[in-house]
Amino acid sequence: MTQSTLAVQFADIAAAAQRLAGVAHPTPVLTSRQADERSGAQLFFKCENFQRVGAFKFRGAYNAISCLSEEQKRRGVVAFSSGNHAQGMALAARMLGVRATIVMPTDAPAMKLAATREYGAEIILYDRKKEDREVIAARLGQERGLAVIPAYDHPHVIAGQGTAAKELFDSVGELDYLFVSTGGGGLLSGSALSAAALSPRCAVIGVEPEAGNDAQRSLRSGQIVHIDVPDTIADGAQTQHIGKLVLPILQAHVRDIVTVSDDQLRSQIRFFAERMKIVVEGAGALAAAAAMNNVVDIRGKKVGVIVSGGNIDMALFAECMARSAPAIQAT
Ligand SMILES: *Cc1c(COP(=O)(O)O)cnc(C)c1O
Repeated sequence: MTQSTLAVQFADIAAAAQRLAGVAHPTPVLTSRQADERSGAQLFFKCENFQRVGAFKFRGAYNAISCLSEEQKRRGVVAFSSGNHAQGMALAARMLGVRATIVMPTDAPAMKLAATREYGAEIILYDRKKEDREVIAARLGQERGLAVIPAYDHPHVIAGQGTAAKELFDSVGELDYLFVSTGGGGLLSGSALSAAALSPRCAVIGVEPEAGNDAQRSLRSGQIVHIDVPDTIADGAQTQHIGKLVLPILQAHVRDIVTVSDDQLRSQIRFFAERMKIVVEGAGALAAAAAMNNVVDIRGKKVGVIVSGGNIDMALFAECMARSAPAIQAT
């Protein structure tokens, strides 16, 4: 498929970056000598755990709400999300003076529920095992005239998410590899479009939890694979399938999708805390875990790693500190 037939172009990402200028945080790019030693590569961590709401999701949410018509803004928006998209939508809506309704699972992390409520959104809870959130959101959209903004399968959301990688290339230049945490593929597809435009030889690698490798299977088979809700500490990547707009972008611009285990995620979360002094959530550690464990051989390469979020439940964080193997092991 040629780039012109894709749902999102790099120009959309550049336009999103302008809308986000002065609104989203230009997040820091961190480096770590120990991470470089461990991986044998030169790693650049783009730290979206320092983004507003603690994850890159603010970018796509703000861009998508900004692009609505005045009439749509007046009526309000509805989103379904287990966490970070909910917070991103709630905050972006409040900043733009738009009412937000968020459909969230009853078992969403307590801190994500509380944060979404604090940003002033109306929360509608549903049972993840019994009800379909997309159906609930679509019904609310129709009944109340709300614009439905999904977490990943939406052109303005993808364009917004692509601005994080754009910033990374703008600050460190071209890369050999870029590792990106992957759930529904919004961040990965946006990042891949930025890479194709700004660093065309860069190999873009998606990383998803071993418990749910649907994106890997979808990319390799060319068909969207649906799975049950995967059991993983990477709750931000507990998606059941990638997006329809996402797949053609991945086919055009992503080299491969790899997986990491929850044990590798726990060690990575501990490494971030212990060595780099940053708090990273399970899904936020996916890309780094793949790079640091050389799931793809990156020795001697210049490598970007998107650290996608930092909203981890403190009980789980404590468990990672106490039980995971030390991040640096003698080899
Ligand atoms: C949403 C999310 C992801 C996955 O993003 P997709 O666009 O759904 O692929 C990864 N990490 C974090 C922290 C997230 O919130």
